[in-house]
Amino acid sequence: MGGPYATQNLEGGHPAFDVVFCGEAEHTWPEFLRDYRRGMHREIYTERTHPDITVLPPPRFDLMRHQHYLLGAMQVSRGCPYQCDFCSCTSLYGHTIRYKTDDQIVAELEQLHRLGYRSIFILDDNLVGDRGRAKSVLQVIRDWNDAKDEPAMFSTSASIDIAHPDLAILFAQARVTNVFVGIETPNTESLASARKYQNLGRDTVSEIRRLHAHGLDIAAGIMVGFDDDDRSIFRRQLEFLQAACTPVCFTGMMVAPDGTPLKERLIREGRYRANEAVGDHTLDTNVVPRLMSVEELRRGYFWLMNQLYDEANFLARVRGALRQFPAKPLQRSRFQPKEMLHPLLFLRIAGRLTRYYLLGGAELRRMFLRSLPLLWRYREHAATTLYWLIAFTHFRETLIRRGVYSRASTPTDQPLPERVTGRPASRGARGTARPRC
Ligand code: SF4
Repeated sequence: MGGPYATQNLEGGHPAFDVVFCGEAEHTWPEFLRDYRRGMHREIYTERTHPDITVLPPPRFDLMRHQHYLLGAMQVSRGCPYQCDFCSCTSLYGHTIRYKTDDQIVAELEQLHRLGYRSIFILDDNLVGDRGRAKSVLQVIRDWNDAKDEPAMFSTSASIDIAHPDLAILFAQARVTNVFVGIETPNTESLASARKYQNLGRDTVSEIRRLHAHGLDIAAGIMVGFDDDDRSIFRRQLEFLQAACTPVCFTGMMVAPDGTPLKERLIREGRYRANEAVGDHTLDTNVVPRLMSVEELRRGYFWLMNQLYDEANFLARVRGALRQFPAKPLQRSRFQPKEMLHPLLFLRIAGRLTRYYLLGGAELRRMFLRSLPLLWRYREHAATTLYWLIAFTHFRETLIRRGVYSRASTPTDQPLPERVTGRPASRGARGTARPRC
């Protein structure tokens, strides 16, 4: 076993695995193979340096079972120059960002395209960690894509530096149009105490709107439970996100991963809760917040999630984003995972989506019917709108399955309106129930 989890969770050992690789494995993997052939391999192989990735051979994508994958995936860089104290990227990959060469990038793109992938996820933690190099990488992707009869669409993660006008245009031209951006919080004290300095002193709402105006779908990475967050943060986050109009918001409670400065600080301050089952999937945290209790954080977080994925609030963000999107995009946005090209599968997905909304209750039905004119009016962005409607079902179902879906939930700074849009609370509701950069 290897990868981030193995690297950062060695304390308890990994008894279920014969061999564990800590750190990047470019040097330790050949070492293991040599030892294995001699019949004397170790249990743990540790790499403390950050290997040169410009000498890596192209991955053997041809060995994958493509029927199991909707998107292609590739890595262009490793590392990030920033110092956000909650982020494990830099303890894993270092502060010096390393990019592959143009030739490596084109070779991987060609291979994925030949295998049929038209939608590709660039798995980097922060594609724009070096703005100059990021520009030339985007130019390479743009030129490669422009020469294709069937160009590919890309998604990735980036810091707010993407808002630089030169970069935003290049992202659009290269068709890297679906971008997770680490926005985190509108609370500037929290940004400063978490050392997310690159997000300070900016008008983030205006910047997101400008990115939308380039046709970029910005997925907001959001967290609550920073040291300077009090019980008002949940409402502030909601108002901020409704103003920014980011339909998809990856929202989580603050968590301190192993190997991060945050975890060390929390241990020093006696605010670390030893708790393995943390994160967005467990709806729990290992952080004791400074200005509220863990229970208040959890309750406020559930309220925020319920509000963000309330039908009216979600549709308001969708409508707002579409209004900000360009009437004539630089590059046509097409969500086209290779299997979607198969008409039968496309019909199956469309049928399931329609059934979900039409049979899911009055609110879902109303939201779906109101989104149909948007699909027609903003037809240049119909694929993106459909993607948002699919994403909504994911978030809503996750809340229901986790048992925290409730239209009646209230945060800790009550009283609050049911919705920021001011619409009346619904009747007949259906049951009650984070990428880096
Ligand atoms: S959160 Fe993003 S910007 Fe901050 S260190 Fe991690 S990858 Fe870099």
